[in-house]
Amino acid sequence: MKDFCKKCVLPIDYLNIKLDENGICQWCRDYKQIDYLGADTLLKDIQEPLSRNTSKKYDCVVGFSGGRDSTFILWYVVKILKLRPLAVFSDDLFIPEFAYDNIKNTAQVLGVDLKIIKHNYLKKCVKHHLSAWIKRPVAETLMFINVGERLGYETLVEQEAIKEGVKLIFGGRSPIQSEETYKTDIMKINHKGGRSSWFLGWCKQVLLNPALIMNPYCLKLQYLEFMITRKKEKMIKKHNLVIIHPYYKYVRWEEKTIENILFDELNWKMPNDAKTSGRIGCQIDTLRQYLFYRTLGYNDYNVDLSVLIRDNQITREEAINKLKEVQTLPVEYIKMIVNNAGIDAEKFMKILDEKYPSNEN
Ligand SMILES: [Zn+2]
Repeated sequence: MKDFCKKCVLPIDYLNIKLDENGICQWCRDYKQIDYLGADTLLKDIQEPLSRNTSKKYDCVVGFSGGRDSTFILWYVVKILKLRPLAVFSDDLFIPEFAYDNIKNTAQVLGVDLKIIKHNYLKKCVKHHLSAWIKRPVAETLMFINVGERLGYETLVEQEAIKEGVKLIFGGRSPIQSEETYKTDIMKINHKGGRSSWFLGWCKQVLLNPALIMNPYCLKLQYLEFMITRKKEKMIKKHNLVIIHPYYKYVRWEEKTIENILFDELNWKMPNDAKTSGRIGCQIDTLRQYLFYRTLGYNDYNVDLSVLIRDNQITREEAINKLKEVQTLPVEYIKMIVNNAGIDAEKFMKILDEKYPSNEN
């Protein structure tokens, strides 16, 4: 295992890390505990969009990814805020069966209408992007592998809200996810900056590996996804929608509380009785996380657990033990995902192992 920051589990070669003389990273040094505003303030703050609601059936729409964060938000909206939500789920056709069962079961237990919208953007592109990626398998271009996924969900909840006459939308994004910036920063020129440095980084990577843009349909989706945030902003403005991600200001993200609700109240089932609820969604995400780990030696788990250490939810020792458990996925499972994407998994893994000898072997 790598050497980490002395306070958290970010490796000492983590992207953009600046360790001080005590071996402590800038995120640990600058960390400030947030005072969350709570349910009463949230209820006050949503009165305005609720007053403009024209739907008879729903008070709000919840973007429901099937992961633990948005599942808990759905529960919170029903049980704590006492609202009537419509849950909207985007199916990119790589959702494992047990996750699907959890999604449907959650909606049923909470008595919530569930709208599932299937799309094949990801399915149509992942084979091309994976086979192009393995020609030059570097972390910088892992951004390409799940192109199409965001196109499926980014404007989906907004569209449903507009259709229903609902003005209030809840999302499950959390400050923890906002910390996972290395995934996009790594492609940027100098590993920092905004959209233009992202675009320049994209140009550099396609010059180094032109195969990434050799499929016109996939290139079009790369462009549409690059533009999706602008499209979404326009839509929100035009229809005067209010979007709230409660974990940022109102609700403290507490792993134990969330897991208790998922497993005890919503009867979540995990494969092979796994006790961890993290990252169970789309299989292409799982694959991408595995590939970040293989190419960089770290992935979202290092980031997420580091946030929990800073927030005093877990000790550094507990986090180190947990890392070992969650970062070693069975190779057979990864091969199954690669095969499902339409790629010869044996060949793919052979190239990967040659370039990045696995430290487990
Ligand atoms: Zn740190």
